[in-house]
Amino acid sequence: MSETKKAKDLLNKDDQIVITGAGGFIGGSLSRYFSNQGFSRIRAVDKKPLVEWYQRVPGVESLSLDLSVRDNCRRAVEGAVEVYNLAADMGGMGFIENFRVECLRSILINTHMLESAYQAGAERYLFSSSACAYNTQLQQDPNVRALKETDAYPAFPERGYGWEKLMSEIFCQEYYAERDLKTFIPRFHNVYGPHGTWDGGREKAPAALSRKVIAAVDSGDHQIEIWGDGSQTRSFMYIADCVLGIDQIMHCDDLIATPINLGSSELISVNDLVTMIEEIANVELERSYKLDAPRGVAGRNSDNTMIKQVLGWEPDIPLSQGMQETYTWIERQYQDRKAGKRTVS
Ligand code: NAD
Repeated sequence: MSETKKAKDLLNKDDQIVITGAGGFIGGSLSRYFSNQGFSRIRAVDKKPLVEWYQRVPGVESLSLDLSVRDNCRRAVEGAVEVYNLAADMGGMGFIENFRVECLRSILINTHMLESAYQAGAERYLFSSSACAYNTQLQQDPNVRALKETDAYPAFPERGYGWEKLMSEIFCQEYYAERDLKTFIPRFHNVYGPHGTWDGGREKAPAALSRKVIAAVDSGDHQIEIWGDGSQTRSFMYIADCVLGIDQIMHCDDLIATPINLGSSELISVNDLVTMIEEIANVELERSYKLDAPRGVAGRNSDNTMIKQVLGWEPDIPLSQGMQETYTWIERQYQDRKAGKRTVS
């Protein structure tokens, strides 16, 4: 096990940190995480107009730039010591099964960001990969064997989104092999929590199901539609574990250019997740199943052997605890929207 280090151990407080995708869920939460630790030069970048960002963190330089354009990437990384690339055109299953071209085009973001970071002399670069990079043929059964890092090859990832992640991983590995840029490659497994997308077509299961339960309670029509037959299983990582994991992976020299799972190993079926949310809401709903809806692979879990070995840590915030926080936040968003106020999605 290596000694766990974090940004606060290795960086000066005025070192330039660049976070892309910062108008979205994870990038916004990471900006807040570093800002709370007193880092004074954080540059947050996203293509969305600033008014649409999920979080605006006071004191953080915030730029609206399309990072699929090379010159914008050069501007984004000026003076960067560390670069966290969390920008991607992505969403839940409904999005990644129907918009493969958009997903594939995110290759432009990572390609230009890597080269720009290298040219700017950045010391460390993190790419947000995904469990969708894994071989889908190993995920045909809800009683899955958890995926370990070597399961990405032979390659058979999710079409579109997964191939982009796998190819961008390879870019990161070769930039280290040939050019010595220290790259880090966490493969996130479903992340959830407050300040994430909860409506509009890009939301993922925990947020979508919470919203549906909230709407059912609000309308008094106690029914819920579930995508697939509800037997599909997943693990879900709470956002606080995600940002802490990002910090630890980025500062671990044993993990340079090495893809590593960053996910929870608490497996749950969609049906049981619905039950958990019903318990939070104190309601029982009549379930219907939309069998032709996008459902993704049958089962997916994170094998955390490697992260426990290397960092002596794994994401461990219980799903029931994180879902309570998430539900409360989405409920507030729902009420705010009803009252005509601005909301995240
Ligand atoms: P998100 O959609 O909330 O945030 C991504 C942000 O990237 C958005 O705000 C979007 O506007 C921005 N973006 C897209 N194209 C851009 C461009 N050309 N230039 C600049 N910004 C652009 O998603 P998230 O959940 O915060 O995901 C962050 C990263 O983590 C992504 O790379 C995603 O693929 C990866 N990931 C997320 C999950 C998850 O469960 N949330 C799981 C696996 C991997």
